[in-house]
Amino acid sequence: MFFYIKTLGCKLNQAESEEAKKTLIEFGHEETSTAKNAHLIVLNTCTVTHIADRKSRQMLRKISKDNNSADIIVTGCAIENKLSNIPDIGTIIPKNEFIPYLAKYKEINVKNNIYTSQIRKNIIIQKGCNFFCSYCIIPFVRNELVSVPLEDILEQIKTSVNSGVKEIILTGINLGLYSYKGISLDNLLEEIVSLPFDFRIRLSSIEPNLVTDKLLTFIDSQSKICPHLHLPLQGSSDNLLHLMNRKYSFDDYLTLLAKINFLNRKIAITTDVIVGFPGETEEDFQFLLNLLEKLIFLDVHLFSYSKRDKTKAYSFLNHVPENIKKQRMQIAQKKLHFCRQKYLESLLNKECICLIEKIEGTLGYGYSEKYVPCLISNVSSKEFYQGKYHKIINQNNDYRVEINI
Ligand code: SF4
Repeated sequence: MFFYIKTLGCKLNQAESEEAKKTLIEFGHEETSTAKNAHLIVLNTCTVTHIADRKSRQMLRKISKDNNSADIIVTGCAIENKLSNIPDIGTIIPKNEFIPYLAKYKEINVKNNIYTSQIRKNIIIQKGCNFFCSYCIIPFVRNELVSVPLEDILEQIKTSVNSGVKEIILTGINLGLYSYKGISLDNLLEEIVSLPFDFRIRLSSIEPNLVTDKLLTFIDSQSKICPHLHLPLQGSSDNLLHLMNRKYSFDDYLTLLAKINFLNRKIAITTDVIVGFPGETEEDFQFLLNLLEKLIFLDVHLFSYSKRDKTKAYSFLNHVPENIKKQRMQIAQKKLHFCRQKYLESLLNKECICLIEKIEGTLGYGYSEKYVPCLISNVSSKEFYQGKYHKIINQNNDYRVEINI
């Protein structure tokens, strides 16, 4: 049987889809790159914004139009949010029942198939969030906090590394809330780095208020942990952060960046920022532009604020008009390209270790330990390459750095 999986949204969804893929391949099925050829189609939906809802609906309609004879499974956050209005197509399976549900495909047309492992793998360690940021729908659809037992995480890492994985991304909705029988995120990292294998670890994203001094010191001392942190800022002033119900002030965030700057390793920071949050003034926006220039992030994921029913911000009165939001997004994107270029220039001629994930001809594509997209000529295998950042390649504001090895 051929299957096709389409994943929308966050790394957690990606990790769950990877698990589904692995399960189906272990049952002897084969992945195909289009919905048209598939006997089974899985759509893993997202509801983080209105746009994500719309994409989920559009994708489901497209898939069912492209192939009306396949089994279609629809899972993910959008189906748990009634307001996403997911069309009644296929079999709706709640997230927590999704992988067990695939067992029904175990005996169907099984062929011999060897699971070809990935080189970089997301491993889910935590699910759920109870922070209730005022713009975010996630706590309404995934409120229960669940941490994966330490032994299960270590076992998954061992199996993955033994099957060829070289980078593990620890993934969760709110990673810093990891807690299992008194084991916190930093204890978990201690256990993981002590595994006697050759691989590196990356944290997917961590809330700024949950980054402890102990965690920073540990990351600083461990070469197995990538020197890259994704610290979502979201709002660029105390007023906005307060309205967003974030758990830190703007000064707290700056203090955290200063602490990171004092570490021995040069840690790359990426972040998320919402543009056009209710109450965002022109002054706030100008401040954000200055900030992008001054703080020098490796990358900033800019999101245009989108109203979500149920959330607190939905009922705020001072929503930014759509045309202004659109304008601000365009200006911020432009500024961001300039800042990204500047950051990458600061890396040129510096040493890096790049993990090649895809090879086309003799060109290898992958990421450095700082999460810089890289390109290396004349490579033949998916592995770590040591070299120097050499040249920035910008294709339509999609940046990649050529590495000389
Ligand atoms: S921390 Fe805030 S933005 Fe992140 S999932 Fe929780 S509520 Fe949503």
